[in-house]
Amino acid sequence: MTPEDVEYTADATGTPGVRLTPVVEFAGVSKTYAGGVRAVADVDLSIRHGELACVVGPSGSGKSTMLHLMGTLDRPSAGRIVIDGYEVAGLSDRELSALRAQRVGFVFQQFHLAVGVPVLDTVADGLLYTGVPLRERRRRAARALARVGLDHRLGHLPHQLSGGERQRAAVARAVIGEPALLLADEPTGNLDSASGAAVLALLRELHTAGTTVVVITHDREMAEVFDRRVEMRDGHVVADSGSGPRTATAGTGDRR
Ligand code: ADP
Repeated sequence: MTPEDVEYTADATGTPGVRLTPVVEFAGVSKTYAGGVRAVADVDLSIRHGELACVVGPSGSGKSTMLHLMGTLDRPSAGRIVIDGYEVAGLSDRELSALRAQRVGFVFQQFHLAVGVPVLDTVADGLLYTGVPLRERRRRAARALARVGLDHRLGHLPHQLSGGERQRAAVARAVIGEPALLLADEPTGNLDSASGAAVLALLRELHTAGTTVVVITHDREMAEVFDRRVEMRDGHVVADSGSGPRTATAGTGDRR
């Protein structure tokens, strides 16, 4: 697999997080489901390395379909998708799974932690298909859990954790392989507002440390806290606050 047709405009150091290359590139992307529903319609979108963005819109506007396409869980009906330099159309299903396993982390509203499995092992399983030996997987899992403030919960089972803790564990699992892209689908949807705020703060911290984060939400109020908002309606991107320069003071004028 070689990244083709991608213009690399990396800075002199090539340091991840300051690369200007998009981690997500959509050009004229549409997704039509059987039955003729056009869930995503002719979308152009570019998300750069190191961005913290949200896709916001009402139910049925195409957000989950966007997430599936960005996460390579689904292929477009039309248009071109490039993820971290790899053109999705050129990859077999197997190559696509490998790309996903190595470069994309997912966080879902329902946490999806294995029942009856200690948190340490659930997080370590995030490295299951990477060839890393079990001991090392566990060592890295402990480190990832420390990063999300759960180092005192390593042996706990999911049902022994609060909702907020479960979601933090899910975030640890998603980022243990240091993915280029972290996709979070309504990550605070099942949480009380304090736990939700803590999870958002965690995503923000990961972003500050260099991870590219895209959050899907129907919650307009929550969307306000993001540097970049991509608004969807009926499958179309109807507004995009834009990525702006990567400096704290410049931007769209509505940064906090
Ligand atoms: P959102 O996440 O914003 O609620 P979705 O991407 O789930 O929106 O759905 C967009 C549209 O596509 C909706 O009309 C939905 O009913 C339709 N849709 C989503 N998934 C499928 C599917 N697997 N088969 C057929 N239609 C679908």
